[in-house]
Amino acid sequence: MKKWKFGLVAGLLLLLPLALSTPTLARAATTATPEATAKPAKKAAKVKPKPHYLIVMGHGAGDPGAHGSGTTEATFLRKYMLPQLRKYAREVQNSTITFYNPRKNLVSDTLFHHQGSYKLSKKTTVIMFHLDAPAGHGGHVIIHKKHPTARDQRLAKVIKKYVGLNRAYNGFSYRTNLKNCNVLRKRGIDYSLVESGFITNKTDVHHLKKNMAKIAKADIEAITNEKLK
Ligand SMILES: [Zn+2]
Repeated sequence: MKKWKFGLVAGLLLLLPLALSTPTLARAATTATPEATAKPAKKAAKVKPKPHYLIVMGHGAGDPGAHGSGTTEATFLRKYMLPQLRKYAREVQNSTITFYNPRKNLVSDTLFHHQGSYKLSKKTTVIMFHLDAPAGHGGHVIIHKKHPTARDQRLAKVIKKYVGLNRAYNGFSYRTNLKNCNVLRKRGIDYSLVESGFITNKTDVHHLKKNMAKIAKADIEAITNEKLK
């Protein structure tokens, strides 16, 4: 019994070098084959990051903006428009929308504290909402480049539908002398500034208040180019 066991173990030990050498030989042979057959697995297709939009409600942080209709631009934008924009921004699937801290002011944060636009990725697109003054009717879009982008055109359409366009601009105004735009322009950040109407014009304010939910939804759709339910 013992002898037989020894013989088996010895036999296995004798076979061992042969078993070990075979794959080594096989490996050596394959290394000579062209690289093409040993291609690494294809990398998974890169997932394109969603476009990011930062919405900035004009003024704030001690800067009331324009006055009119018993309120201020900063208050009106934050009290009436911001909650509706937030509501529809949550429904967006193909883009990311965030809001600039409404207690802060992007312009002063940038100019005096080296924050604000300095903290933004250059891939971010900034959409600013404002109301016009001192006198007039209707809104327009202040644009980043000489000609309006498709997004600017969609935003102007929303104003035209619910409040009306300012006849002085017929939809768009290309400006390079506005502080709130230049803090972005100088850093190469894309933006649109939406003047939704005149805060000093009772009819404009009435239309804005009455249609605020529809305007906010349409603005979010215009910004993202995504249809919401
Ligand atoms: Zn303003």
